Amino acid sequence: MALRQPGYEIRQTLVDAMRILHDRGLLNLRGGNASAVLELPDGTRFIYITPSGAIKTRMKPEDIAVMSPEGYVYEGKPSSEYRLHLAVYRTRSDVRAIVHAHNPYAVLARRLGLELRPEALGVEARYYLGNCVATVPEVEPGTEELARLAAEALRDCDVAVLEGHGAVAIGVSKDPVEAVYEAVDRLEALEDLARAVVYEKLLRG
Ligand code: 13P
Ligand code: ZN
Repeated sequence: MALRQPGYEIRQTLVDAMRILHDRGLLNLRGGNASAVLELPDGTRFIYITPSGAIKTRMKPEDIAVMSPEGYVYEGKPSSEYRLHLAVYRTRSDVRAIVHAHNPYAVLARRLGLELRPEALGVEARYYLGNCVATVPEVEPGTEELARLAAEALRDCDVAVLEGHGAVAIGVSKDPVEAVYEAVDRLEALEDLARAVVYEKLLRG
């Protein structure tokens, strides 16, 4: 059996994560991005990140880009949101994966001015989302400004809504594969919470 190169599982997991998010209606075909950290025993870190502008359901493991935490590109064409990913990793050393999607209900809820408090959905939502959902004001995607605001928002919360755009979540499991799924799970739980809050508003009138 051929030996798998280090990071292969991370590449495959990033590919799978984007498909899951698209199947769930949280992504348009070219939207969203995801990254995860491979840490070597000597502490050297490599950031694996989805390619920019790709049709996310057609990506292959070899399309995943690889960067240093400082932004040096070893391989591929990193997501246009690489600044955001790197800024979050810089701000929180416990983060092992970051996933960004275009959650329709989360964006709608914030547009309607609705609060996204995990306790509104009960103990289950708090378990997946943590105690808070942060909000990042609407700024141009892919910019240094979005990176700075998102990293600030994710300092204390594990998930943030990007107003007029989508959402971003982090995973902290030591195993980067687990961490990617942790972040995907948070984006799903956020969308469940947002849908519940929007419907509650509608039904109560
Ligand atoms: P990329 O394809 O460059 O990752 O961009 C998608 C996106 O959602 C930008 O916010
Ligand atoms: Zn986006």
